[in-house]
Amino acid sequence: MSSFRFHVALAAAKLSKGLIQLLGRNGTHTPGVIALKICPDFLAQAPKAPLTICVTGTNGKTTCSNLITDVLEKDGRRVVSNRTGSNIVPGCTTNVINSLTFTGKVRVDATVFEVDERASRLILPYVKPDYLVVTGLFRDSLKRNAHPDYIFSVIDTYCPDSAKVILNADELCSSMLKKDSYRVFYGIGKQPDDKTEPYNLIADYQICPNCGEKLKYNYLRYHHIGDVVCPKCGLHSPDKKYLATDIDREKMTITIQEGDKKTVYPLIHTALFNIYNEVTVISALREIGLSAERIKELMGQIHIPDSRHNETTVNGVTVIQALSKGQSAVSSSRTFEYVANEEGKKAILLAMDDLEDRQKSIEFSGWIYDLEYEQFNRDDVVQVICTGPRCYDHKVRCLLAGIPEEKILTNLSEVAAADDVTIDGVDRIYILYDCENYGMSCEMKKKIIKRLEGDK
Ligand SMILES: [Zn+2]
Repeated sequence: MSSFRFHVALAAAKLSKGLIQLLGRNGTHTPGVIALKICPDFLAQAPKAPLTICVTGTNGKTTCSNLITDVLEKDGRRVVSNRTGSNIVPGCTTNVINSLTFTGKVRVDATVFEVDERASRLILPYVKPDYLVVTGLFRDSLKRNAHPDYIFSVIDTYCPDSAKVILNADELCSSMLKKDSYRVFYGIGKQPDDKTEPYNLIADYQICPNCGEKLKYNYLRYHHIGDVVCPKCGLHSPDKKYLATDIDREKMTITIQEGDKKTVYPLIHTALFNIYNEVTVISALREIGLSAERIKELMGQIHIPDSRHNETTVNGVTVIQALSKGQSAVSSSRTFEYVANEEGKKAILLAMDDLEDRQKSIEFSGWIYDLEYEQFNRDDVVQVICTGPRCYDHKVRCLLAGIPEEKILTNLSEVAAADDVTIDGVDRIYILYDCENYGMSCEMKKKIIKRLEGDK
């Protein structure tokens, strides 16, 4: 039973949300802060929705939690989710506030939480998920997340044993989570262009975590993502309950095998990291109990969130906003590779400096040297514009990657740099931005679109 203090906190938070919305803002963070100030154990006291799903991992959690929410809503369920990525304690608390009526009754069928992996120790024990979905664990911001093994220990320790855990079999670290819980695995089977030896600048997990022997990859996709076996102690990637087999980027379909049954789903995006996101989402939805046929129908109606990837074509030139997380060399290297391999002549604007860090702390810039700028050293990348306060650091890294100096521009102002981008003779203009810079990247895009429309 919830305390009087809980009800006061809920009422105050609801009122603050109303006021914030009157001011034209979303109120995804502050109501949670207010509720926690009044009632510090608000999350523990809050009544739970009939279905609670938490999504965590280094990369892909916003996309996956948004897609799961989209499908559940299209399935006719009432769902609340911290969609915009307020994924630490106040954001998750606001999500709970949104799931309740003013009097503290649950008003939804399901609550979907995107949970910051580091903050999961303060969230998972209290929201007690029915399902925990983990996208994978990678090297991330050294300053914020230290080492993936540390994040592993946080999730492993604090996720309640009662949660059903949905894990990526192709990612060795997180696939070892919650060994005593109910676990299912998903993955993507061998593909024609897979490799067997690590080739990225970052390639963790090359030796066996049990015995120290060099691991053998049956297939390796990128970084340490793939199917692995230890020749000495026999450690190997788990068997996949949900196995993606055929990926057809022309027909835009993906086949997922469960036992003997194969289902062909619509492919919602061609980038490999988004294909992993889709396999994650389908596996989670199957576990929740939606039929393969229903998921297939609903997946055809949803798309990757605009805040992660969107495209607009004007007079034959496509302007693309693509998330490229600052201080996360793995995530950004995946975006770089995807962008580099797209067809046509490309101009690229880099706006990846972390705005929050710029204001509050000292930024660690070593990640720039783990990030694969080498991907852009190719003839069809005609221009790379480094922007923001770290633009000269990015330029040095571009030069180290062998990109000819005449192709590289710098501009301390991200938005002003939109005037520097060449619009003649290019097919695609990419704006690569950090999570915190989405609004700024929209301004950049607006300026470029105006130029393309001839309304400079
Ligand atoms: Zn071993």
